Order: sequence, then structure tokens, then C-alpha cells
Amino acid sequence: MAAKIISGTEIAAQIREEIKVEVKALQEKHGITPGLVTILVGKNPASVSYVTAKQKTAKELGYYSVQDDQPDDISEAALLSLIDKYNKDPKIHGILIQLPLPKHVNENKVLYAINPDKDVDAFHPVNVGRLVIGEARFYPCTPYGIQQMLVRSGVKVDGAEVVVVGRSNIVGKPIANMLLQKAPGANATVTICHTGSRDIAFHTKRADILIVAAGKPKAITADMVKEGAVVIDVGVNRIGTTPEGKAKLCGDVDFDAIKEKASLITPVPGGVGPMTITMLMLNTLKAAKLTVE
Ligand code: NAP
Repeated sequence: MAAKIISGTEIAAQIREEIKVEVKALQEKHGITPGLVTILVGKNPASVSYVTAKQKTAKELGYYSVQDDQPDDISEAALLSLIDKYNKDPKIHGILIQLPLPKHVNENKVLYAINPDKDVDAFHPVNVGRLVIGEARFYPCTPYGIQQMLVRSGVKVDGAEVVVVGRSNIVGKPIANMLLQKAPGANATVTICHTGSRDIAFHTKRADILIVAAGKPKAITADMVKEGAVVIDVGVNRIGTTPEGKAKLCGDVDFDAIKEKASLITPVPGGVGPMTITMLMLNTLKAAKLTVE
């Protein structure tokens, strides 16, 4: 039987409606409007489109939003003092630096200068550490979106065999850490695979929930998936252009074949992707609430 599709577009829209209600309540009770600054260095077209989408969503949700565009040749010192300015700005609750930064800037030095309470991407070591010890204030946006998709689709994560393919700091490691916590929407048995894994199929075939973030088109084929598994495809691979001139995308799993075997599956596009910006907005709301808690 063909798998049911988990629509990230629909779940994200539902979460945004919930955010609007909370924003109104925060404004009425405390006179606070969540504030987000997005800092863009240079004019990389992909970065420009990501930042534009983030700003658009922030505005739609009624946030105080600032887009701070900086030239490609901005010095590291100037960037650090910009972050210091936003760290001190009471109207700004979330600071997002669009990556990648130019080569002359030490990316980690810049990211680590953000006040962890305003680190809505959750890349700061303080927030990474808090996540690992089960005391997270913010979850990184893509893993947070994945967990919400599972929970809101009624998937039982508690006790499940979860296999994550990929160990990046922004997807693989954090989602694995989140799902192994002794907490609601987690408490799974988690295995992580990577290019050093001896027999990836041995692991993926055992998975009740398979999460793939490898960045390789069709890295996971149907023979690697258990009948009835839940498959979350994080990959976004550009494989050409559509007749309308738009990028043609595919994920990391062989969607057409695996949907005949899985019980639930996320599409690409329209799966994990739409969740990420919405979770950034949820983190910004949480950051605003931190100031009154
Ligand atoms: P990344 O930093 O390149 O990491 C990829 C990971 O996958 C690495 O750990 C790598 O192993 C592992 N890997 C690669 N090929 C593999 C294979 N054939 N078998 C097993 N493991 C393999 O990528 P990322 O940043 O995590 O992103 C992964 C994908 O998700 C990309 O397509 C990216 O565009 C997409 N993504 C989507 C969103 C979204 O919002 N939709 C957000 C973030 C990322 P090694 O460590 O051994 O090299």
C-alpha cells in the first residue's frame, strides 16, 4: 500500500497559526513583540532568497523584523561589533546570521559572539550543550521541524528504532540527540550512520523511523527500507531546471519506490523544507518569552 505523505507545508501553516495567537497574547500581556534581525553579508543569490523568505514570514507573523545587509568586504571586527549592538538591543530577541560568511571572516567566532539567549539558530556551543544534556531552550530549526512533523503526524517515537543517515552539526547530530532524550516526542533508540559506516543497509532496514540527511540524491533505495517504516527525507538536491526555469529538486531517498513500502514519507519539495523557517519563527517567539520568564 502506498505511504501517506507528511506535508511539511500543511504542518508549518498550522504552527504559524498557533504562533500568531501566542504573539497576540505576548503583546497584550507584556507589551512585547518578537524581534528578529537577519544579517546578510554580500549578495549570494541563494542567501538573498533565504533571508528574503525569513523576513517575509517574520512580517506575516507580525514580528518586529530588521534586515541588515552588509557588504562582502565587511571586516570581522565590524561584524562582531554589529552583533554586540543587536545583543544589547531590547527590541531584538533573535539574531540570525545567514551562512556562509566570506572566507576572511571566522564563521565560528562570529556565531559564538551571539548572546545564547538570542541564538535562534541554536548553533552556539551553549545551546548545543544544553540540547545534549536535555535542557534545551532552543532546538536547531531543521531538527526541530522534523520532530514536530513526527509528533504531529501521530508517529510513536517513544521506544522506536530510529536510524539517522548523516552526522552534520546542523541536522544529523542534533536530531539524533533530540530523539534519544528521555522526553515526550523522543525516548527512541537511535543509530547514526555516515560514510564511515560499514554496512548502512543493515542499519536502515531495522529502522521504524528513518531520517536521511546525506545530501546525496537517492542515497537510500527501497531495498534499504523496512516495510511500514516512517521515512523523513531532509535532502535537497538540485538535479536540473524545470521548463519554467525553476530549480528541479529531489531528496536523498528514492521517493517513488520507497513510497510503495513506507507507511509515512515526506516529499521533496514540500516536506522538511517548509518547516525550517517556521521553526526559526517559533524560536524567536521563545526568545521573546525568555525576557519575561
Ligand atoms: P552535510 O554537512 O554535507 O552532511 C552530510 C552527512 O551525510 C555527512 O555526515 C556524511 O558523512 C553523510 N553522508 C553523505 N553521503 C552518505 C552516504 N552515501 N551514506 C551515508 N552517509 C552519507 O549535509 P547537511 O548540512 O546535514 O545536509 C544534508 C542534506 O539536507 C543536504 O541535501 C541539505 O541541502 C539538506 N538540508 C535541508 C534543510 C531543509 O531545511 N530542508 C536544512 C539543512 C540541510 P561524513 O560525515 O562521513 O562525511
